[in-house]
Amino acid sequence: MKYISVKGIVLREYNVGESDKLLTVFTDTCGKITVSAKGAKRQGSRFLSVAQPFCYSEMQLYKGKNMYNLSGCSLIESFYNLRNDIDVLLAGGNMLKTISAISQEELPDEETLNLLLHALYYLNKGNREIDLLLSVFYIKLMCFQGYSPIIDRCVGCGEPIVFSSQSKKESYLFSVQEKSIVCEKCGKTFLANSEIIPLNEGSYAAIKHICGASLDRLFNFGVSDEVKKQLKCFDDRMMKACFNI
Ligand SMILES: [Zn+2]
Repeated sequence: MKYISVKGIVLREYNVGESDKLLTVFTDTCGKITVSAKGAKRQGSRFLSVAQPFCYSEMQLYKGKNMYNLSGCSLIESFYNLRNDIDVLLAGGNMLKTISAISQEELPDEETLNLLLHALYYLNKGNREIDLLLSVFYIKLMCFQGYSPIIDRCVGCGEPIVFSSQSKKESYLFSVQEKSIVCEKCGKTFLANSEIIPLNEGSYAAIKHICGASLDRLFNFGVSDEVKKQLKCFDDRMMKACFNI
């Protein structure tokens, strides 16, 4: 029997019978996998503290016919504080649900795993505004999944979009269908049927930062309430356009 060791976070849990659990785990080297945790519901089980959503652990597994089986584990981070506030818990739950929906079985995606862990770290710490944190998470997720928004030039005519204090523009236009900024002319003419989101300069700067920043700098900024609203509108519509969720 071949044993492997992975690091992974539990996305979902399902009860099986009186004492077992099936877990959906997002791992570093195997991607999303289903893991059977025998006896995990029993008091005193060595799997009790890791076999639940949000728990990030080192796991020893062996592969059975249809799924992996948990044979040993060591908790790395439980993100315990998420459970102390219903809004925080819901936000974290939505992140897990999204990753569970868009990730593919047995396709390693360590970049996305690290994004999730960073976002949960700040959510658990409680020192980031929840709505902004969620928007940053979703926009970076799009980038990592191959849907980086085009923000430097108009997708219609190819003209660079120049953002400067002299341009005195109050808003810029983003086409959801094209996943790109469009110039005013293209926004009004042949892309008239596409869904257009207006972005002010702060929202544009925030999206540019999110697309370009490494994970250690990603969440380190603040924005106005207006920008928060625009980013939420942007990530809602783009997530629907990219993943249909
Ligand atoms: Zn154009």
